[in-house]
Amino acid sequence: MTATLIDGKQVAAALRESVAVRTAGLPYRPGLAVVLVGEDPASSVYVRNKDRAANAAGIAARTLRLPAETTEAALLATIAALNADAEVDGILVQLPLPAHIRSRAVIEAIDPDKDVDGFHPINVGRLYDGTAALVPCTPLGVMKLLAHAGVALRGKRAVVLGRSAIVGKPVAALLTAADATVTVAHSRTADLAAECRRADILVAAVGRAELVRGDWIAPGAVVIDVGINRLGDRLVGDVAFDEAAAVAGAITPVPGGVGPMTIACLLENTLTAAVARRG
Ligand code: NAP
Repeated sequence: MTATLIDGKQVAAALRESVAVRTAGLPYRPGLAVVLVGEDPASSVYVRNKDRAANAAGIAARTLRLPAETTEAALLATIAALNADAEVDGILVQLPLPAHIRSRAVIEAIDPDKDVDGFHPINVGRLYDGTAALVPCTPLGVMKLLAHAGVALRGKRAVVLGRSAIVGKPVAALLTAADATVTVAHSRTADLAAECRRADILVAAVGRAELVRGDWIAPGAVVIDVGINRLGDRLVGDVAFDEAAAVAGAITPVPGGVGPMTIACLLENTLTAAVARRG
């Protein structure tokens, strides 16, 4: 392996500590409300982890567990109550929602100033016009890892694999704002390998186990692997790690790369939202 390992666990731990220190200096406890509808096992684990990490950082987190048969109207009423609750600075609705509820209607009902996931169209718009305060957590985590690794972005070619609203598109917007020259590739891209080979910085967010091979990577490139895929009994990224690490200049592992950053950035967004509302 020639690449430097970008240790997301370490960067995330430092960020969580920094949030805890800043939170301790406030005359109030920032509040985070996590809403979970139904009993999706993966979502339950995520929500428990968010709750625990938030409380450890001095954030008053609570989880509202609603039954799977909750109506859209009832969920919207819950959101309205949280919007009006002065103790709540951040609202996160765990996705996916049951099929009978329109996720879009729910996301749009959240007060944009409390939208710590950064998914509300107002925050999406602000991200693109460069005035965002609340940026989606995983893309924010990607940018923090690049900063931690000392990666210069200005004038560099960045290739983002994937164009989802929660990862690919916001990562591309953030890299553009940081003066990289950005290409967004996706399932209809003609020659994915050729696009990747042009990248100084490659961010993979496709959800296909080890799609990106070592010979897709330019020598010395920085590789950020957002993918989390189950391969047999292992968790792997979208990048074939061993092959890529033999060519890249720096690379994130899976697990232990981008993954831990997501919750740490959620905590920071909650603090940001609290300070913006309450000073
Ligand atoms: P998504 O909504 O399924 O989007 C996947 C994107 O990849 C789409 O734009 C799709 O193209 C593209 N794609 C799929 N197969 C492709 C292929 N064979 N070649 C080229 N492009 C392809 O997924 P997502 O929510 O962005 O998540 C991506 C990955 O990141 C998943 O593994 C997910 O588990 C992981 N993830 C991790 C975190 C974290 O905390 N670390 C957070 C969120 C997601 P089209 O648009 O053309 O369909």
